Amino acid sequence: MSTVQNDRAAWLRGPAASCSAKPAKLDHPWRLVLLGAPGVGKGTQAQLLADQLHACHLSTGDVFRAAKALGEKALTPAMNVAMACMKAGRLVPDVTVLDVVRERVNCLKCDGGFILDGFPRTVLQAEALEKIMRQEGLALDAVLDFVLPLDQIVARLSGRRTCTNCKAVYHVTGRPPKVENICDACGKALIQREDDRPESIRIRMAAYEESTAPLTKFYTARQLLVSIDAHGSPEEICARAIAAMEAARAPKA
Ligand code: AMP
Repeated sequence: MSTVQNDRAAWLRGPAASCSAKPAKLDHPWRLVLLGAPGVGKGTQAQLLADQLHACHLSTGDVFRAAKALGEKALTPAMNVAMACMKAGRLVPDVTVLDVVRERVNCLKCDGGFILDGFPRTVLQAEALEKIMRQEGLALDAVLDFVLPLDQIVARLSGRRTCTNCKAVYHVTGRPPKVENICDACGKALIQREDDRPESIRIRMAAYEESTAPLTKFYTARQLLVSIDAHGSPEEICARAIAAMEAARAPKA
């Protein structure tokens, strides 16, 4: 197994950037989509799964946050629309999201596999992903759907803190950094994301119900959906997810 950490540069900065990580030589890389309401712990699970499976964590939300850091003047008009949607807690238009993903198709083709987090978010995006992958001769291995009751989701979201630099995710009680408000991995400041504030949370939950929940139906029909109970520690949930997806991928007797 490789010990090289995926740096995600090609994904975060776009096609001109290259990835410093050499993908591990895997017999069968994992190509996964993670689903679940905001706050269910998808970002944390994506990081843990990326470490365990040596696949790259690809988050469309992180791409938009990285673009935001460049400032309004450096962005295309479409990206400025995306920034405004994100700030308001609304979904970015499908056409913009799909442009962002198509530009980064090399990350989907990577021999190390991938873990898509936050994409697809609508059935239209799922159909487009299916088409892109088919054109590249690739297929998803599983779609992990993390499930948790609403009151627990709200508690998780309001305590979440994200690294301003490397985007690592912490929780003030569930997964605190060693030093308060400082990232364990890179030493930079942790912040509460704008879209984790209560007014944005409500809008995001409604957007999730309306647009993303139908994805579970879409992937159930393709026999890819694997439901994961998201109670317990991040490590327990991750172990549960790996066991469930390996069982789902094992050849049926
Ligand atoms: P996330 O970090 O995945 O929660 O994404 C943060 C914000 O970025 C979302 O609330 C949306 O405004 C935007 N976003 C990220 N991914 C997508 C997507 N696949 N479709 C639409 N909007 C997205």
